[in-house]
Amino acid sequence: MDLDFLPEHADFRKEVRDWIEASYPAETRRKQEAGEHLGKEDILAWHRTLHNKGWLTPSWPVEYGGTGWDSVRKYIFSEELARAQTSQTSFGLGMIGPVLYTFATPEQKEKFLPGTMNGDIWWCQGYSEPGAGSDLAGLSTRAVRDGDHYIVNGQKTWTTQGHFADWGFFLVRTDPDAKKQEGISFLLIDMTSPGITVRPIITIEGGHEVNDVFLDNVRVPVANLIGEENKGWTVAKYLLGHERTGIAGVARSKRGIERLRELATAELADDAQPLINDSDFRRKVAELEVDLAALEYTELRSLASESKGKGPGPEASLLKVKGTEVGQRLTELTLEAAAHYGAPYSRGMGDNIGPVGPDYAGKAAPTYFNMRKTSIFGGSNEIQRNIIAKAVLGL
Ligand SMILES: Cc1cc2nc3c(=O)[nH]c(=O)nc-3n(C[C@H](O)[C@H](O)[C@H](O)COP(=O)(O)OP(=O)(O)OC[C@H]3O[C@@H](n4cnc5c(N)ncnc54)[C@H](O)[C@@H]3O)c2cc1C
Repeated sequence: MDLDFLPEHADFRKEVRDWIEASYPAETRRKQEAGEHLGKEDILAWHRTLHNKGWLTPSWPVEYGGTGWDSVRKYIFSEELARAQTSQTSFGLGMIGPVLYTFATPEQKEKFLPGTMNGDIWWCQGYSEPGAGSDLAGLSTRAVRDGDHYIVNGQKTWTTQGHFADWGFFLVRTDPDAKKQEGISFLLIDMTSPGITVRPIITIEGGHEVNDVFLDNVRVPVANLIGEENKGWTVAKYLLGHERTGIAGVARSKRGIERLRELATAELADDAQPLINDSDFRRKVAELEVDLAALEYTELRSLASESKGKGPGPEASLLKVKGTEVGQRLTELTLEAAAHYGAPYSRGMGDNIGPVGPDYAGKAAPTYFNMRKTSIFGGSNEIQRNIIAKAVLGL
C-alpha cells in the first residue's frame, strides 16, 4: 500500500528502526533465530526495554503512558515492530490496561497500573469456562460475598499463559438470580492465592500456552472489584473490543508475505523451478495480498477513529475475522512452500528438528497447526460474524 507519508514520518520510521536494531535484547534475538521457545523472562526483557523508552503503550492516553503519536506514527511503529519480528510484550497488557484506566478507582489504578506497565505484574484472562465460551454470559464461576471478601469457586479454561501470571482478570457470577448478563462481576485475582490450581493444556502442535484454572474457595478482597458489582458485563465487553483489534496482526502478516515471497523465489538445486514461477501459487499469494491491503485500510480507518477518542466499535469484529483468516492462509501457503520438508517436525513450536531441509521448514507445520487457534480465540469468527450482522448491517 502506498500511503502519503510526510517527510517527518520517514524520519520517524528511521528513528524507530534504528532504535529497535540497537535495543532489541540480543539473547532474545539469538533464541528466535535458533528457533528456541521464548520464556517469560525473554518476553519481559523486551517489554521492559519498550517501557523504559516510553514506547510500550502508544495508543493509551498520554497521562497513562501513551506516546501521544498520531495514528500514522502508531501505524509505522507497529509496522517496524513486525518488520524486526520482535517478541510480544506481557500477556493482557492491551486488554487490562484500558480497563484499568477507564473503570478502576484511583486506588486501583495506583496499585495495578505501574506494575502492569513495568512488567512486575503479568496478567491472565479468566473469562472462558468449560460450559461458557461463545455463550460467555452463561458462565458459572461463583463469587459469594463474605464481609469484605468474595469466596470464589469454579473453573476457567483456555487461560493463556496462566502459568506465567501473577494476577488474573476474572468474570464471576455474583447474582445467580438476575438475567444472565446482569449478575456478572469483574474481579482481579492474585494468582498466588490459596485455592488456585493451574493445570496445563497441551495444544495440537505440542506447545504449552493455555491452561485450566481451578478456583477452590479462593478469598478475594472486595477492593479488587472493578466497576460495580453485577455490572461486570459492561467492563468485559469493553475489554473484548480491545482484544479483537489487537488480533488483526496486519503488520505481522505483511512481514509474513514478504518472507513467503522470499521463500518461494529462492534458487533451488539442480534444474528445479522456484515455486513463484508456478502461476497457481502466484495467484494464491496475490489474492492474499489483496485481502491484506483491504484489511490494512480498514485498520487504518479504525486507528484514525481511535485517535479521535472513539473506542473500537463493531469494526473490531471485522478486523478480527479478516485478520485471522489472512494469518491462517499465510501459514497454509508457507507450509505449501516448505512442501515435503514441512512434514517432519518435533512437538513444540520452536524446537529445531535438525538438518531436514531449509531452516524455516521445521517451523512451518507447527506454526500452521498453532495458528488454527486464531479463528477460535478472542470470540470465534462465527460469533464475530453474528456481531457484524447485528451491529453493522442492522440484521
Ligand atoms: C489458544 C486459545 C487461547 C485462549 N485464551 C483464552 C484466555 O486467555 N482466556 C479466556 O477466557 N479464554 C481463552 N480462550 C477461549 C476462547 O475465547 C473460546 O475458545 C472461544 O470463545 C470459543 O468458545 P468455546 O471454545 O467454548 O467454543 P463453543 O462456544 O462451544 O463453540 C463451538 C463452535 O460452535 C460455534 N458456535 C457457537 N455458538 C454459535 C452461534 N451462536 N452461532 C454460530 N456458531 C456458533 C463456534 O464458533 C465454534 O466453532 C482461548 C482459546 C484458545 C483456542
